[in-house]
Amino acid sequence: MSAPKLRVAICGGGIGGLCLAVALSRYAHIQVDVYEGAGRFREIGAGVMIWARTWRILELLGLAEQFIKVTDIPPSPDVATGFEYRRSDRKDGFKWNWVGMPYGCIRFHRAHFLDVFVDNLPQGLAHFGKRLVSYDKRAGGEIGLAFADGTSAVCDLLVGCDGIKSVVRAQMLRAKAAEDGQPGLLALIEPKWTGSIAYRGLIPSKDLPSADGVKHRTLVTPMMYCGQNKHIVAYSISQGNIINVVAFASELDKEDQDYGEEWVTDCTKDEMLQCFRGWETEALALLEPVENPTKWGIHHLKELPFYVADTVVLLGDAAHGMSPHLGSGAGQAIEDAYVLASVLGAAATNNLDQALEAYQRTRLPVANHVVKASFESGKMFEFNSPFAEEYSTLGPAIGRQWAFLTESTPEGEAEKVVGILRSLEKDKDI
Ligand SMILES: Cc1cc2nc3c(=O)[nH]c(=O)nc-3n(C[C@H](O)[C@H](O)[C@H](O)COP(=O)(O)OP(=O)(O)OC[C@H]3O[C@@H](n4cnc5c(N)ncnc54)[C@H](O)[C@@H]3O)c2cc1C
Repeated sequence: MSAPKLRVAICGGGIGGLCLAVALSRYAHIQVDVYEGAGRFREIGAGVMIWARTWRILELLGLAEQFIKVTDIPPSPDVATGFEYRRSDRKDGFKWNWVGMPYGCIRFHRAHFLDVFVDNLPQGLAHFGKRLVSYDKRAGGEIGLAFADGTSAVCDLLVGCDGIKSVVRAQMLRAKAAEDGQPGLLALIEPKWTGSIAYRGLIPSKDLPSADGVKHRTLVTPMMYCGQNKHIVAYSISQGNIINVVAFASELDKEDQDYGEEWVTDCTKDEMLQCFRGWETEALALLEPVENPTKWGIHHLKELPFYVADTVVLLGDAAHGMSPHLGSGAGQAIEDAYVLASVLGAAATNNLDQALEAYQRTRLPVANHVVKASFESGKMFEFNSPFAEEYSTLGPAIGRQWAFLTESTPEGEAEKVVGILRSLEKDKDI
């Protein structure tokens, strides 16, 4: 008789959950189920960018060929623009910084990005309309899952990939706070408003005017238009046919204040244009064609002290929801998935505790660092960091914010997590 499979329930089919499902589905000893609260997998239409490190993971997962088909420009190892920075909160704007790196900024339409994972998900793993309400640990180690539609399921390992408002995180922290007498953990359940809002929109590239026959810079270069307390990020996606525009405005004194119920609302173009009144023409040219902007309250999580409790584990935004300033939330979710799949693939089915401990030791310090670095970077782009407007020191400091991308390699992290697992197994035997 073959050994029973490890039953992994993935709660949430966003980028993180689907990447994990695809990676785990290759292991014969693991049974995967994805429980998605919505009626289908979906990403709200906009752009997403990744860096070389995440691209390497997609290569290691054997998905690069398929992602190449949906990139803006097929990635190449040459040094390319991460972002070009302009001072733009004045009529006579100017370039003040450039950050480059191998592969540069690799850009996608979000829906197309998610579709590659969906296309690689074996049939029968996805369950839609399954909004997790709670879980309970049962005798023998099984976990019961209760869904909002009144149905239930069981698993051996629950992975909370349910985004920044994660119900898995909420229950995990509540339980830990009660068990360990640590009421301070309750303060980590709710995401915090960063004090920033973002106007988002997609525009057809053909709507971007050229000045004196010169193409708008954003058509060829990922751009960051910076001003005091505000900045606009813009880059092309979909083979250059669409420009993704995200325009941020921040009020420092509002950090951690209550944003209200609705994080994403429709807003008028006029409100967005008013916010950037007086900016250089090149930056305004990106906002004027945005017909139906949406307005987002930008939230992040305070640093969690753990991502694992017993056989429940957090991944992606559920563990480390971050502000988008380093373009790394999805990349970090993908890396969580790659590392967790590597260690579960290497672990025996009865050895979950050590595997999850190894995942946590590998991922938590890095991902928590990126949450903080992202938030700091937003301040740098808006001249609110200790570097203020000292371009000569601010520019290099911005470049260093992405140092985590090259401080290790994904292959190295996969080796590391399995190495930690093996040493924990040895300790257990002693
Ligand atoms: C303005 C903006 C720009 C960004 N740009 C970038 C970028 O360029 N690059 C980058 O790397 N990152 C970027 N990010 C961050 C990135 O979008 C997220 O980090 C990433 O999408 C997180 O993926 P996830 O799978 O962890 O969570 P999510 O994408 O939030 O997915 C969670 C899934 O779980 C489901 N779900 C929720 N609750 C339940 C439940 N109770 N039961 C079952 N299912 C549930 C949801 O329906 C959803 O499908 C940006 C974020 C913002 C706000």
